[in-house]
Amino acid sequence: MLDIYTIGADVLRGQAAPIDKFDDELAAFVETMFVTMKQGKGVGLAAPQVGVPQRLFVIQIDGDKPRVFINPEIVETSVELASFEEGCLSIPGVYADLDRPAEVRVQAWNERGRRFVLGAEGFLARVVQHELDHLNGVLFTDRLPERSRDRLLKQYEKRMRA
Ligand SMILES: [Zn+2]
Repeated sequence: MLDIYTIGADVLRGQAAPIDKFDDELAAFVETMFVTMKQGKGVGLAAPQVGVPQRLFVIQIDGDKPRVFINPEIVETSVELASFEEGCLSIPGVYADLDRPAEVRVQAWNERGRRFVLGAEGFLARVVQHELDHLNGVLFTDRLPERSRDRLLKQYEKRMRA
C-alpha cells in the first residue's frame, strides 16, 4: 500500500505527465493503486495522490468492475449538470455537493496499452471528472463557491488538529 498525499502537498497541484511505457512495472503500479484505494475506502484514486505525477487513475464503484484510465481525455460533456456529494482521499473527512456535467465521454488507455472510449453517466461520470481533475492539479474544493470552500477547509483543518 502507498501513502496518500493530502492537500498542501505540491504533487497534488502540478500537471501530471503522460505515460508512454505500458510494461509490467505499470501493471504492478496499477495493482498497488487499487489496493491503496480500497484500504482508504475510496472509489477512485489518481497517481498524483500517491506522489506519482503521471496521467493515470483507477476507479471502482459499488456494483461495477475495476477501471483503469491512462492518459485520459474528456472528449464530450453533456450540457446538463448533475449534483453529487464529493469527498477526496486527499482531503479526508469533508464532503460537499457539487454540480458538474451529468454525462461525459472519455477516451483513455488501459494498463495493457489498449485504447477505449467510455460513455459515463451518473456516479461513474462524476468520479471520472473528479479523478481527471487530479491530473491537472485541481481539487474538488477548488470548484466550490468561495464561501463553501472556506467553510469546508476550516472544517478539515479542525479535524486534522483534533
Ligand atoms: Zn480526489
